[in-house]
Amino acid sequence: MICYAKSMTQKPVLVSAIKPTGDLHIGNYFGAMRQFVELAREGKYRPFIFVADYHALNSMQDADEMRRRTREIVMAYLAIGLDPAEVTFFKQSDVPAHTELCWIFDTITTMPYLMRAHAFKDAEAKNKEINVGTFNYPMLMAADILLYDAAIVPVGQDQKQHIEIARDIAEKFNRIFKEDIFSLPEPYIMPEVATVPGIDGQKMSKSYGNVIPLFASRDELAKRVMSVVTDSGGHPMSTAAVDIGCPPPKNVYAIHALVRSKEELETIYAEHAGNYKMLKELLIEDLDSYFASIRAKYDELKNDFSIVDDVLARGKQEARTLSEAKMERVRHAVGVV
Ligand code: ADP
Repeated sequence: MICYAKSMTQKPVLVSAIKPTGDLHIGNYFGAMRQFVELAREGKYRPFIFVADYHALNSMQDADEMRRRTREIVMAYLAIGLDPAEVTFFKQSDVPAHTELCWIFDTITTMPYLMRAHAFKDAEAKNKEINVGTFNYPMLMAADILLYDAAIVPVGQDQKQHIEIARDIAEKFNRIFKEDIFSLPEPYIMPEVATVPGIDGQKMSKSYGNVIPLFASRDELAKRVMSVVTDSGGHPMSTAAVDIGCPPPKNVYAIHALVRSKEELETIYAEHAGNYKMLKELLIEDLDSYFASIRAKYDELKNDFSIVDDVLARGKQEARTLSEAKMERVRHAVGVV
């Protein structure tokens, strides 16, 4: 066990956070979750992946919902193949070093510096009142990353600035306290993936109420797929379907292409051209079998919360051990011990 941990720590560390948003849909799966699990599985990195519950507290202030969504997101990632033996998977709030280090970073950061962050500027431009937690979000994120000496942090293009902030704060801390405590992380820009259309042809999104849930039962799948819009012109916003030059019904095809090869689909859509009901039935069949094992795993986890609890307990211990070693150096460097 010790040997295993040692060989793992020699790999470059990857740190990533998952927001506890429940109600996952197949757009989230194909657009983000799947790539993320593959990256963690590649074996090139030592992954630290945590549920960002303290980040989520900025926008979700309902205790039952926080608990439910946290558990759901952990179950979802385990169900789609995140391997807890290869990943330190934990809850941010289980590791107090994150908020402790955030405070220390606060003390060496100026307000004008944080006011240049995109999230703050956007909120200001929209005349939105922003809470201190949101204003300070880049500092907590810097702590999340620097605690584990992350070499890479997978982010979308829009999150690149947060990594630059983490690098700035690492350099500043090392300079002020004259010790090389933090190393500089690099952003890993996740490749852009095609947008998955929802049942109305717009981008699939929980805010549009047009989703196919990731863990839908077969009946639910059938209901949603049967209501996919099929007018041959497509929805005015169905750019995703139009972009890949789908045969009609475009939205059905675009979803189908996620679970079946293009060659097979060409034959199927030519053979049943015009028979939208049949094509939808085939899509239901294919979605159902594609997600069957993921759904079974999810149901297994739902029936026995102790698996999730065990994964989080182990992750908590591993993350605490590593982060505590770093914090001892930090506390000493700033002079509180
Ligand atoms: P929603 O739009 O349902 O609120 P989120 O904004 O929480 O989804 O997205 C979480 C992740 O899933 C993001 O990385 C996002 O890019 C991806 N994602 C969400 N919807 C889609 C979609 N329709 N197609 C592709 N990727 C998506």
